Formats: sequence, C-alpha cells, structure tokens
Amino acid sequence: MIGAGAIGLGTAWHLAQRGHDVSVNDPRLNQPVLRQESGSGLNGTSASLGVLMGHVFRRNSGRGWRLRRRSMELWPQWIETLQAHQPGLKLHQGLLQIAEDERAAERMASLAAQRIDLGLQIVTNADLAAVWPTASHGGLHSRQDGRVDPLLLQLALRQALARQSVELNTTAVVGLERNDNRWRVHRADGDSSVHDVVLLCTALSTDALLEPLGHARPMTPVLGQALALQLETGPTTWANWPSVLVDQGFNLIPTAPGRLLLGATVEPGDRAADDPLALMRSLNERAPTWLRTATVIDHWSGLRARPVDRPAPLLEELEPGLILASGHYRNGVLLTPGTAEWVATALEQK
Ligand SMILES: Cc1cc2nc3c(=O)[nH]c(=O)nc-3n(C[C@H](O)[C@H](O)[C@H](O)COP(=O)(O)OP(=O)(O)OC[C@H]3O[C@@H](n4cnc5c(N)ncnc54)[C@H](O)[C@@H]3O)c2cc1C
Repeated sequence: MIGAGAIGLGTAWHLAQRGHDVSVNDPRLNQPVLRQESGSGLNGTSASLGVLMGHVFRRNSGRGWRLRRRSMELWPQWIETLQAHQPGLKLHQGLLQIAEDERAAERMASLAAQRIDLGLQIVTNADLAAVWPTASHGGLHSRQDGRVDPLLLQLALRQALARQSVELNTTAVVGLERNDNRWRVHRADGDSSVHDVVLLCTALSTDALLEPLGHARPMTPVLGQALALQLETGPTTWANWPSVLVDQGFNLIPTAPGRLLLGATVEPGDRAADDPLALMRSLNERAPTWLRTATVIDHWSGLRARPVDRPAPLLEELEPGLILASGHYRNGVLLTPGTAEWVATALEQK
C-alpha cells in the first residue's frame, strides 16, 4: 500500500481486518496528525473538512452514486469500531443545504420526495428562522449526511493499524518494477521489497509512479481553503444547528461553543489566493454579521487531486497486482469505506 491519507489508511485497515498481510508506505507517517506542525504541507485528508455529502448527491445512478450510498451505509460501523482507538471520533450527523433560489428549492423538493427513506426532508423558511434567518427559499435536511473529523479519523486508523501489526514504513516510494508476477517497490532510502499486489493511494503523486510503467493517469491540483473562526457575537451554543450547514457551496461547521469551520472554496491551480478567501468569509456578500466579524484563529489550504479527462475517483486494476485507488478529488473522506470495500473485492475476486 502506498499513501497513508484517508484512502490508504482506511483501505489498509479494511484489508488487514479481512486477514490480508498489509504494509503501508508514506513519509507522512513520521509526522503527527496535526494541521499546525506539518513540515511538508498537509495531505488532502488533513486539509479537508470531512463533510459527508452522501445522500444529497443529485444523481441516482452510476458508480458515483453507488459508492456514496455504500460508504454512507458503512460509516456507522466504521466509526463504532474505530472509537475503540479514538473515543473522540464521532459520526456527526445532520446536514442542511440552503436553497439559493426557486429552482434549487424545486430540485431539493423532488430529491426529498425520492429519498424519504434515506432521511431527506424539505425545510421551510419558518423552520430555518432560528438558524439561518436570511433563507428565502427553504432548504433540504439530510439526517444521515454530516461529518467526521479527518484528523481523528487518521489517528484512529493509524492506531488500529499499529494494533493489527501492519508494517508502517516512513520512507517514500520512488519506483515500481514488474518482477515476474510480483512487484518490486523501490524506496527513497535505496531499500526495496517484493509484493504480490501494490495499491496506489497517492493522490497527486500517482502519475510519477505510473508513468514509467506506461500508464498515464494525470491529475490536476485543485486548491481548497478552510478557516477556523471564533465568534464575537451571534450563536454561541449552536442550539438547533445541524452538524453541517451548506450555503452557496460553503460549508459551515460548528466545532465548539462560539467556534466554527468554514470551507469549500474550489479554486483552479495550486496557490492560495486572497480573493476567494474574502468571498468565503462574506459568503458572497450574504454572510450574517456574526460571521463577518468573527476572528480567524486558523487558516489552511490543501490540494485536491482531480483526474484529467476521467471521472473521479480512479478505481482500477491497471495490470495484474497493480491497483489504483486515487483521484478522489472532492470526496475522498466520504468515499473511504466504499473505496476500501471496492479494493477488497478486486483483490478477493482473483
Ligand atoms: C480544503 C479541502 C477541503 C476538503 N473537504 C472535503 C470534505 O469535506 N469531504 C470530503 O470527503 N473530502 C474533502 N476534501 C477532499 C479530500 O481531502 C480528498 O478527496 C481526500 O483527502 C483524498 O484522500 P487520499 O488518501 O486519496 O489523499 P491524501 O490525503 O492526499 O493522501 C495521499 C498520501 O499519499 C502519500 N504519498 C504520495 N506519494 C507517495 C509516495 N511516492 N510514497 C509514499 N507515500 C506517498 C502522501 O504523503 C499522502 O499522505 C477536501 C479537500 C481539501 C483540500
């Protein structure tokens, strides 16, 4: 297994639970799972907000929808088992999307009608008065969507892997080589080892390992930024608030009394710019005063790996024993359990 973000760690854990002999390589395994002290920048998972937008996804067919649904089914079991390693890890359920206009409200109404059994429900402006009084077209509440803390998730998975005696190797992988029917994995320290199966969960670095093998899977970096805010006025207890409130694509996530996370800007390129940050803080000039006047206590950014000319994510067996689970772009945390299950099925079908 190469890469120890949510996808690599989650898949390694799932495979180890199913009795596979697994080792994980990632230089970041040397570092604590913290946002502040990450010397080599954040991996996508540590930068992310961990929002699980499973059931509010509009399409209702195809691989993307199946992966989302399956992941949402698996999350409660995953969290329950992983809590043994990290008691603070929780599935924070309840996601509220605010309708921007009448058309959005109509789309939400039709989705809610189709997915009553999945816990979707329309909410009116009156219902929203205590939470988001500026809403003028109502919104959509999803009971099961919500959030997991991506830092606690990685901590729990690392601890679970250590308990399962999975080898955690802190050296970067620099090359892969076919070796009869097996794979030689070359590491940056000059060492190498041979494996039946290699699984790449390396996000943006994937192509560098695949290209020499004749498999081109380029990915574009898409920047995302997030803010941690301390409120001076406004809601302090978050009574009546959902775990995640989404307005115009911006996620607002209460984390403690008077504190929240704000994120979701998608910007092309790989440099953090000021303007999108300002837009995010003002919610396109529609933010309540308590949000505009909040103090920024932390700000970070990270890169999402978007596959070029292919739908995200890339789940493929490229050749016997070479499996790709990468390019999750905007939903890697959400899709972790479904991805892990996909990999196990691909391995066990042999
Ligand atoms: C600001 C922001 C907010 C986001 N919010 C959400 C959200 O709310 N919900 C959601 O589901 N998703 C969200 N995402 C997307 C999510 O972060 C990604 O889809 C997900 O983290 C991808 O996980 P990953 O394990 O594939 O990649 P990563 O977490 O990037 O991990 C890849 C790992 O591979 C390692 N690696 C790379 N090359 C090598 C090598 N040669 N040898 C060894 N190791 C290597 C890296 O060190 C890294 O640790 C967000 C992203 C950003 C940037």
